[in-house]
Amino acid sequence: MNTKIIDLQVLDKAEIDKAYAEAGQVIRDGGMVAFPTETVYGLGANALDAEAAARIYAAKGRPSDNPLIAHIADESQLEDIAAYIPKAARILMKEYWPGPLTMVFKKKDCVPYGTTGGLETVAVRMPDHPVAARLIREAGVPVAAPSANISGRPSPTTAERTAEDMDGRIDMILDGGSCRIGIESTIVDMTEEVPVILRPGFITREMLTELLGEVRIDRALEKPQENFRPKAPGQKYRHYAPKAPMTLVEGDMKAVVAKIRELAALSLAEGKKAGIVCTDETREYYSDGIIKSMGSRESLESVAHNLYEILREFDEIGVDVIYSEAFSKDDLGFAVMNRLMKAAGHKEILL
Ligand code: AMP
Ligand code: MG
Repeated sequence: MNTKIIDLQVLDKAEIDKAYAEAGQVIRDGGMVAFPTETVYGLGANALDAEAAARIYAAKGRPSDNPLIAHIADESQLEDIAAYIPKAARILMKEYWPGPLTMVFKKKDCVPYGTTGGLETVAVRMPDHPVAARLIREAGVPVAAPSANISGRPSPTTAERTAEDMDGRIDMILDGGSCRIGIESTIVDMTEEVPVILRPGFITREMLTELLGEVRIDRALEKPQENFRPKAPGQKYRHYAPKAPMTLVEGDMKAVVAKIRELAALSLAEGKKAGIVCTDETREYYSDGIIKSMGSRESLESVAHNLYEILREFDEIGVDVIYSEAFSKDDLGFAVMNRLMKAAGHKEILL
């Protein structure tokens, strides 16, 4: 398949109008368009068309029990696909939609099981990105859009990274520049009496608790080693992973730096190319290996923004092993650590 890549940032108004009209038509015809959101690039298709959803699974090589999030551009579209919208959901919508918050509802019959991975529920998000919003409006249907990566790889945060995985597999890529947040949305299950966080993201537990009083965290997230079955099916797969094996090192900062230095020196002695994922505060203490900072510990937003890009850069360089510093799990650190732990396949050294 020939993938049309359209850079919206260099077009004039008439060309932009034409590009959206064409992209909307592709979605209505059952095709696939990748597009930027504020979290990561999404791979979009008509969420109400089971065959279109099946094409997404094929393009990504995604297991068919891993459901897709339906993206909407206004609240009336939620009424079309959710059977029941609890009060707590209305409170969250008011504060965080459009934005990086996905909510799970009981689905209406019009949403095919092909989109929901066979579940009776549907996950819905209203993205806060002008390209995503306009594409969904032009399409006129909710747009199912998982991250636009080959299943298992780090999610793409630019059109270039999207093309790396999807060129030749989908109809179109809309280039709207780099994604502001850089990690996927927070997913909250609203079908339970007390809402449950199924995937941590930019909207933190603390932010949700402040509005709702009580919010739980899916047990599979708190104790991932202990074989609780995650309620978000996607959370059980190794994910977001670089090609090289990665190990996280957690503990007092000085001890962490010393341990990673030791591991990198050992790798070097074995003739291996080591990648080190560090922070601005520790960058100067490393010498062996290829060293990349995710940003300052004072700004977890920058760490989230750079995380996937750095993992992909290590893939490009072709390192043999990766050692990464860990973060405290407070606030946005919970989401950052969730992605890092999954990228490392839960391989962690606790000091
Ligand atoms: P991605 O599309 O790559 O952002 O991944 C979507 C995530 O949402 C996966 O982890 C899915 O398992 C989760 N998800 C989607 N729909 C549902 C649902 N109805 N119930 C629970 N989790 C869901
Ligand atoms: Mg994904």
